[in-house]
Amino acid sequence: MNTKTDELKKMEEEILDGVRQCNHCKMCATVCPTNEGWFSQSSMGRIAAIYAYFVYGMGTDEELSKLLYQCSTCRRCQNLCKALSAGTENADIIIKMRQYLAKKNEKEGKK
Ligand code: SF4
Ligand code: SF4
Repeated sequence: MNTKTDELKKMEEEILDGVRQCNHCKMCATVCPTNEGWFSQSSMGRIAAIYAYFVYGMGTDEELSKLLYQCSTCRRCQNLCKALSAGTENADIIIKMRQYLAKKNEKEGKK
């Protein structure tokens, strides 16, 4: 059994379960301070990029990492979604995805 691979698989499933809670209402994109007009640089855009990465193999680790580290983890998106929409934990998902990529890099012997 490859423990690290199992750990990554478990994290992937948890992250995707969280992402699938989103109903695509786009409300969180309106409160994200990093959204300067590009959907990809909003809270929902980051969640969508994570989904595309896992399900469609879109984007490199570096591209996704850059997008995720532009998030300030202010949690405005998460609080709004909890109060007015599906209760998706965007900020927690983004943080968990950062951890996933760090572990994956470690496993692959990257810095
Ligand atoms: S507010 Fe919640 S349900 Fe709506 S797009 Fe954002 S994460 Fe998805
Ligand atoms: S936690 Fe990140 S994605 Fe959510 S509103 Fe703040 S900067 Fe945007």
